[in-house]
Amino acid sequence: MKKIKAIALFSGGLDSVLAARIMLDQGIDVIGVHFVLPFIKNHKPCYIVAEAASTLGMECRMETMGQDYLDIIRNPRYGYGSGINPCIDCKIYMLKQAKRIAEEIGAEFIVTGEVLGQRPMSQHRNAMELLEKDSGLKGRILRPLSAKSFPETIAEKEGWVRREDMLSISGRGRDAQFHLAEETGIDTYTPVAGGCMLTEKHFAMKMKDLLAHNENTSWDDVQVLNFGRHFRFGNSKIIVGRNMNENESLWKYKRQGDLVFELSYEVPGPTTILQGNKSEESKALAAALTLRYSDFNDTEALVFFGENQLGNEITGNISFIEKSDFFNITTGTKE
Ligand code: SF4
Repeated sequence: MKKIKAIALFSGGLDSVLAARIMLDQGIDVIGVHFVLPFIKNHKPCYIVAEAASTLGMECRMETMGQDYLDIIRNPRYGYGSGINPCIDCKIYMLKQAKRIAEEIGAEFIVTGEVLGQRPMSQHRNAMELLEKDSGLKGRILRPLSAKSFPETIAEKEGWVRREDMLSISGRGRDAQFHLAEETGIDTYTPVAGGCMLTEKHFAMKMKDLLAHNENTSWDDVQVLNFGRHFRFGNSKIIVGRNMNENESLWKYKRQGDLVFELSYEVPGPTTILQGNKSEESKALAAALTLRYSDFNDTEALVFFGENQLGNEITGNISFIEKSDFFNITTGTKE
């Protein structure tokens, strides 16, 4: 007999592994879908997620977030959480992607590791019902860890899975999940990631500034928010690396047209990126900040700059910092 297929949203974390395990034990052909989220701190490399899936004997697809996800962050229908995190819209986006894949491969329903009451914004009952409705998946989302606390889904009604084997875990505690993992011998799952940076105040301020000044924001622009000190000077943005790794990352993620500033090789100092308006004043400020955050003790020094080759020179002068009207994007103050 042909096996019933389901798509499982698979972060690789314990809840998603347990949910997939329960479905596999019901004889369902489960295909995992993992979303690679560029704004998750310490995001686990895809091979670790793939390993968790393969331990379950399950195929797992890696999906990247499209440009349309950035439009959601810019203008979420259901608003933000504590930062610039559009959790409900974010979940709807993922569910819609899962629905698209399900239609492509003939999967009948979607499985998630969601637990009723675990997250304040997106895992209370009303939000979870809204997710179903807005993703066009009414009755087709099965949450095995909390399924008994919800009305029967199509998968249960059709007898593809046994409702009596579903669970009714709720709340923020994790004891029930750890107990279940021990009982079922599950020990391959990714540790909890460092959290979503969209929820963090400082990252949210950088993201808001980015969206306010760039109509065509790209994922590379978002990646740059992870590195350096960020300053706003009118229509210019200046990013100063804080260590060697950040300097390398700024070179890697800089966009075409950005100017890079550095002191000579003999002086340890930051890589600085100038984005947006490249006026003489903004170049002078970028040079001054490059000098300010270097190990050079003088108040004036030659700074090299250019787009790819640093073939131009400008004098960086610390006094220019005092004269300029700019602010640190994350603190709103001048440093
Ligand atoms: S915390 Fe971040 S990744 Fe998670 S649902 Fe909210 S916006 Fe999406």
